Amino acid sequence: MAILFCNIGWMKHYNGIDGDSIERGGEYNQHSTGHEVCNFSDNAGIFYGYVQPTGQIKIERLGASKKDESVSDITVVWTAGPEGGGTVVIGWYKHATVFREAQEIVKPSVIQKNNGVNTFRIKAPSNKAVLLPVEQRELMIPRGVKGGIGQSNVWYADKEESQEIVERVISLINGGISSVLPDVDQTCSILEGNPRLVAHLRRERNPAVVKTKKEAALRATGKLCCEACGFDFKEVYGEIGDGFCEVHHLQPLSEADGVVKTELRDLAIVCSNCHRIIHRTNPMLSISSLVKHLQCKCA
Ligand SMILES: [Zn+2]
Ligand SMILES: [Zn+2]
Repeated sequence: MAILFCNIGWMKHYNGIDGDSIERGGEYNQHSTGHEVCNFSDNAGIFYGYVQPTGQIKIERLGASKKDESVSDITVVWTAGPEGGGTVVIGWYKHATVFREAQEIVKPSVIQKNNGVNTFRIKAPSNKAVLLPVEQRELMIPRGVKGGIGQSNVWYADKEESQEIVERVISLINGGISSVLPDVDQTCSILEGNPRLVAHLRRERNPAVVKTKKEAALRATGKLCCEACGFDFKEVYGEIGDGFCEVHHLQPLSEADGVVKTELRDLAIVCSNCHRIIHRTNPMLSISSLVKHLQCKCA
């Protein structure tokens, strides 16, 4: 199954500009409203999607031959930039037909007409498409790093180094990723619409990384003490606290939101209280500045 990533302006509903707005859509959106304003506007059971490529969409990279005008049965993943920065998946079309050149919408709907939308590049049955609600747009796609999206709005993700991202996206489409943060207070408003923080917390819950960090700390010190306040779950709770601690990632996600390899030195052992306080401020506190706050209190 071929996959195509298309980056568009940020909207809530993509069903006309009325009651919605389009943000950060790239240069062309500054002069005119992009045709993606109707990407999730149903027209007789079909969604007509628009993306602004540089030149044509290179459908040979999706399995078409040089003389084909279009290629069908493509999974098209729509991405956009949330307010907090980065690039996230906002929805997808399954079983889409992707055209090399922009096509005319033969019978535009009222909403399409009202929005001046008369061309499209990708179409799909609307019942095979999903637009994620804003609070579920959490999966970040790295930009401008090896294996991530480049600067173009259209990305083929057909390189070896992109496969990790592609797999994550496919698992989201298949209903895999979700409820990944069971121990984070869901009412915590800082999480909503903050995909960077969600990605950060998800990274900290990577079981393999946590295990390796704990093992290293145990080897070095024989215990799992909070690096900020010294709290030791085993010492306080006895056996039921044995082996418990949280692991904090010292680096916030960068501009590129790349899939950066986590080094052990980027991680700190922390207790749950200190961890919450670290993430209570934006930007988050460093361990050393948290230690200073602790000292003030105790002095
Ligand atoms: Zn602590
Ligand atoms: Zn943390």
